[in-house]
Amino acid sequence: MDNAAYILSFILGTSIGSALLCAAMRYADNQNWISGRSICDNCKKVLTWDQLIPVVSFLIYRGKCKECQKEMSWFYLVFEVIAGLAILIIAARFMEFGDIWILARDLVIVLIALFALALDWYKMLVNVRLMIVGSVIVVLMPSGLSIAEMLIGACVGIAFFGVQYLLTRGKGIGSGDMFLGMFMGFALGWPYVIISIFIGYIFGSVHAVHLLATKKANRKTKLSLGMYLMIGLILALGVQILQLSIL
Ligand SMILES: [Zn+2]
Repeated sequence: MDNAAYILSFILGTSIGSALLCAAMRYADNQNWISGRSICDNCKKVLTWDQLIPVVSFLIYRGKCKECQKEMSWFYLVFEVIAGLAILIIAARFMEFGDIWILARDLVIVLIALFALALDWYKMLVNVRLMIVGSVIVVLMPSGLSIAEMLIGACVGIAFFGVQYLLTRGKGIGSGDMFLGMFMGFALGWPYVIISIFIGYIFGSVHAVHLLATKKANRKTKLSLGMYLMIGLILALGVQILQLSIL
């Protein structure tokens, strides 16, 4: 795959991410999530086209609203970059192996993971139905994974969070994380599900330490694990693809 194709798929990914983030926020607010225009959270002015270019707008306006200069969340930029990398990763696999079914399955995984990531960040929500439907779809679609690998992966994912849920009586971890674990297991199979959980915990811990150090959070602040797990899922998918290409 040449450099132009890499750059194009990254740009496409950031645009998909920008649209998905918007859709997830409108969905969480019970608004019509297809139509409607983007507005500034602070001054409620409709954002102009030059404020809607993924990644670029954030950098040009230094993460501030053009009208009221209110700082926007860094999450917008981080999310668009993650989406860009995710689409780049699966496009690279498609360019190498040319399997349209694998591309379709990868896309389903990445789109659901990004949507879940945005929902969790915005309102600490886990859409259980999306996780169940997503699991059924990724099991039914052709992949390089055996049914046994997917089943073991899903059981590990459910058990990992289920045990914590029971031990902390629902205080340490939400029940929704079990469904995220299930989807991660079916999507990646065994043993990659463990890698995704591990990456998720590393990201979660690093971010928690940063928030504590900058006093943006204290020990009682509730941090949601779901968004880090979805980052773990996307990165573990990348690790899986990289290993398959090398072997
Ligand atoms: Zn504004």
